[in-house]
Amino acid sequence: MYDKDNVFAKIIRGEIPSKKVVENEYAISFYDVNPMCKTHVLVVPRGEYENILDFARRATPAEQTGFWDCFVKTADALGVKAEFNVFANAGLAAPIFNQSVFHFHLHLIAGEKTPACLDVMREMLCEK
Ligand code: AMP
Repeated sequence: MYDKDNVFAKIIRGEIPSKKVVENEYAISFYDVNPMCKTHVLVVPRGEYENILDFARRATPAEQTGFWDCFVKTADALGVKAEFNVFANAGLAAPIFNQSVFHFHLHLIAGEKTPACLDVMREMLCEK
């Protein structure tokens, strides 16, 4: 069940600060506090959707269009052109990365990897 007190819901309500990139009626993007690359931004719908499947299934056409508009404007604002990765984690048992905030978001990463990212990659390679 969707938890209204998750950290992104609080950011959307303006209860905690974020470094915003773009916002519209349906979505918002802001910098990740623990960047994996020089540029690491999260694109987040304002509606209450737990993960990507929930959003794809239930969001209205206006919410979906608004979300992708925010995504495009975010990529444009960051100047990432076509050189980036986008990913969404879903659930605690996802095979590569767990979801840790249960409000749907896309990670948009570009540029040089951070030491934090390199540590994660090393751990993954060493995992038996
Ligand atoms: P995920 O693990 O896919 O659910 O991603 C959640 C992301 O949210 C992580 O990359 C965190 O670093 C990031 N995060 C957690 N709290 C905040 C916050 N207050 N502001 C910005 N990013 C956050």
